[in-house]
Amino acid sequence: MLVSQPSQPYRPFSRYGNYVSLDSTCLFCRIITGEIPADIVSRNENVVAFNDIDPQAPTHVLIVPTLHVENAGALAKISPTITAELFTAAAHIASERGLTGYRNVFNTGAEAGQSVFHVHLHLLGGRSLAWPPG
Ligand code: AMP
Ligand code: ZN
Repeated sequence: MLVSQPSQPYRPFSRYGNYVSLDSTCLFCRIITGEIPADIVSRNENVVAFNDIDPQAPTHVLIVPTLHVENAGALAKISPTITAELFTAAAHIASERGLTGYRNVFNTGAEAGQSVFHVHLHLLGGRSLAWPPG
C-alpha cells in the first residue's frame, strides 16, 4: 500500500555541534530554511544550490553548506567532507548544463568582495571569463 509521507522538515542541526547554530540573522540560513524564497537548483542534507539574484554570467549558482560557517577556510577546518561536497555539487551542475569550462570562487573577507558571511561557492559559466579577475 502506498502511503504519502509529509516531506521532511529542514532540521537545523547536524553532527557538527557548536558550529551548526542556525543564524536567524543570516540571509543564506534563511534561504536554506525556506524563510526567504530563492531559485533553488538542488539540495540535500548538507548542501543547497540556488541561482544568484544578480547573475554575473549565464550560469551563476551559489552553493552553500547547510551549516552556518563564515568562510571557506573555517568550513574546511570543520568539515573537509562538506567542503568537497560544494565542489562536487558545482561539477554536477556544470556537467548537467554542458559547461565545458567554468569558474569556482570563494570570496573571503570584505576586501575580497565577500558580502554574505555564510560560506558560498560561486559557480560561474556560460561565457568566457577573463583573468585576472578584478
Ligand atoms: P559574495 O559577494 O561573494 O559574498 O556573494 C554574495 C552573493 O549573494 C552575490 O553574488 C549576490 O548577488 C548574492 N545574493 C545576495 N542576495 C541574494 C538572494 N536573496 N538570493 C540569491 N543570491 C543573493
Ligand atoms: Zn548562515
